[in-house]
Amino acid sequence: LFAGRTEFLKGVVAMPGLPPADRIEVCFAGRSNVGKSTLINALTGHKALARASNTPGRTQEINFFTLQESHYLVDLPGYGFAKAPVAVVEKWQKLLKAYLSGRATLRRAFVLIDARHGVKSVDEEILTLLDKAAVPFQVVMTKADKVKAAELDKVLTQVRGKLQPHPAAYPELLVTSSDKGEGIEALRATIAGLD
Ligand code: GDP
Repeated sequence: LFAGRTEFLKGVVAMPGLPPADRIEVCFAGRSNVGKSTLINALTGHKALARASNTPGRTQEINFFTLQESHYLVDLPGYGFAKAPVAVVEKWQKLLKAYLSGRATLRRAFVLIDARHGVKSVDEEILTLLDKAAVPFQVVMTKADKVKAAELDKVLTQVRGKLQPHPAAYPELLVTSSDKGEGIEALRATIAGLD
């Protein structure tokens, strides 16, 4: 699935712009700066596929990439900007809700959590949204190279606790480091195994 070239298809700002729901779809969500662009680049073997749409106030797009002819990989805008204007946040939340609850082919959402920080309240809002939309989701820990093993264990325990109230959560956490290449192959295999 990841052997071929991953192509950028389009950025979507409103529901009518979504491409036809005609293939298996996975999406990636996470707080801005969690390492989402870096992870998507590592996953697809590209240097700069996922453009960092990290500037507050900039158009919040849902970016669609194609994996072979069979899958969409969807990059959701980073959330949790301290400085984002309320109107921007509200528009984004509306689009996100519409996308998550209306996309029948969406098989799994990967929610990225920084291995240093664990689940924050802004992450929990997304988890609740995923529950409501009944989108199965799996947590991917990022930047594992930045923490020592004992610290990582503590954070993983925190994350597992935070996932407990969420019926849509997969209990298995994927631990990754885009810098070291850790966990990338496991994430690829997880995506390739969805049907
Ligand atoms: P995004 O806002 O979620 O797309 O985050 P980016 O992918 O732009 O990453 C934010 C920062 O974290 C950048 O400085 C990256 O170089 C750094 N980063 C991302 N992934 C890793 C990782 O696995 N290990 C380390 N040490 N740094 C990372």
